Amino acid sequence: MIPMVAGYVMGTRASARAGAMSVVANHMTLTGSAADAVAALDERVDRLLMVVEALWSLLCEHGYTDEQLAARIKELDLADGAADGRHAQRASVCKSCDSKIPAGMVRCQICGTETGFVPGPLDGI
Ligand SMILES: [Zn+2]
Repeated sequence: MIPMVAGYVMGTRASARAGAMSVVANHMTLTGSAADAVAALDERVDRLLMVVEALWSLLCEHGYTDEQLAARIKELDLADGAADGRHAQRASVCKSCDSKIPAGMVRCQICGTETGFVPGPLDGI
C-alpha cells in the first residue's frame, strides 16, 4: 500500500461516504438498485486504487519519490482553479459558433469545429 496515495484516496472516499450518508439520512434510504450502484462504484474505486498502486510501484523502481507525487497531485488539483481534491474539466465555447462545448469533446456538437482537446489514455474510461 502506498500510504500517501492511499490516504489521499481514502480521505476522498471517506468524505464522499460522509456526504452520501448525509443525503440518505436526510432524504431516503437506498433501494436495492441504488445499493448495488454504490457497491459497484466502491469496487471500481478499489480497482483504480490497485492500478494506481501498481503504476506507482513501477515509478518508484525508476527513482520517483513520494514528494514528487505529492507535488504533481497538488499541481493537478490546482489546474482547474480550486484545491478541492478534484480534477474537474470545464466546458468551453466553440470559436466558430459560440456554442457551449462539454469538457472532453474533440469537436463542437453543433458545427463540428475541432476543440483542440486531445483525449488522454484515461479519457472515456
Ligand atoms: Zn461550433
